[in-house]
Amino acid sequence: MILVLKPQIAPEDHRRLVETIRAAGCEAREVDGKARRVIAILGDPEKLREVPLDVFPGVAQVVRVTKPYALAGREFRVDPTVVRVGETRIGGPGRFAIIAGPCAVEEYETLLEIARSVKAAGADLLRGGAYKPRTSPYAFRGLGLEGLRMLREASRAVGIPTVSEVMDPRHVEACVSNVDMLQIGTRNMSNFDLLIEVGKSGHPVLLKRGRDATVEEWLLAAEYVLAQGNENVVLCERGIRGFDAATRNLLDLSAIPVVKARSHLPIIVDPSHATGFAAYVPSMAKAACAAGADGVMVEVHACPMEAKSDAAQALAPEDFADLAADLRLLHQVCRTPASRSR
Ligand code: PEP
Ligand code: MN
Repeated sequence: MILVLKPQIAPEDHRRLVETIRAAGCEAREVDGKARRVIAILGDPEKLREVPLDVFPGVAQVVRVTKPYALAGREFRVDPTVVRVGETRIGGPGRFAIIAGPCAVEEYETLLEIARSVKAAGADLLRGGAYKPRTSPYAFRGLGLEGLRMLREASRAVGIPTVSEVMDPRHVEACVSNVDMLQIGTRNMSNFDLLIEVGKSGHPVLLKRGRDATVEEWLLAAEYVLAQGNENVVLCERGIRGFDAATRNLLDLSAIPVVKARSHLPIIVDPSHATGFAAYVPSMAKAACAAGADGVMVEVHACPMEAKSDAAQALAPEDFADLAADLRLLHQVCRTPASRSR
């Protein structure tokens, strides 16, 4: 349930309202937006059935939310959320974030070379996995803490913020101290203990869609992070499982307008894991931009053929530079009506 407050609500009425909500065993979460001030009531709304919230002094409107996610929903926040990652921002009108880098952090020199090239091409963030979720236990599973340290070094040397995947609640602290944004991979979208832990950290979170998750399940996963008081969540569509091996996954571009209609959170697209082939990545990155995404995340390797993981989908630096230039141009002409009006 969402309470829209009267702008001139008396402090005394405000205090009484919050106390009443808490006394009923619910939590009151407030957002002071540009246009309006609202309180989201978290918990079982049945507990407040006897409370006459509609006529409570200072309450302008009671919105009975039909979706199970209160904090991730549009009713809670009308303005789009802008997530700050280092000096960069993701989300909000007029902005298109480009995240690029290798699938996995390998040698430091290679990482540095990639970081320099993607930064020169206009990338906003450097990606790189230190903890790699691999389908086969025999595949390269990343350098762990050493990889995180390399990301920190490269970030400092080049002046670009970083994002890296965390798979285990016990690694959250190490990731927070070494990278600027924590990625939750598709396989862990429903790892609720991990979501709670990254929520508690307050660090920006890039939450990938589970490969078999509905949009509602995905937004509920975001709600886990938001419920911990961490508002810095960016969603990432990376394709869901399809039946056709012509592409690695089935990129659900329609998730972009659906998420935009239901949530205030930014949404970006990962065309690399969606298609699985470098040749298809630029088309789908541009399609994501045209469909109103707030950014893309693309795998880039200094020498794609030698990449230790996901070699087939990595772009060479010069191909990435062309794509980044196209995306900047395209974004100028593809602002969605929704983002234009906000
Ligand atoms: C990744 O981005 O490194 C990754 C493993 O992606 P996903 O979780 O989407 O498969
Ligand atoms: Mn990868």
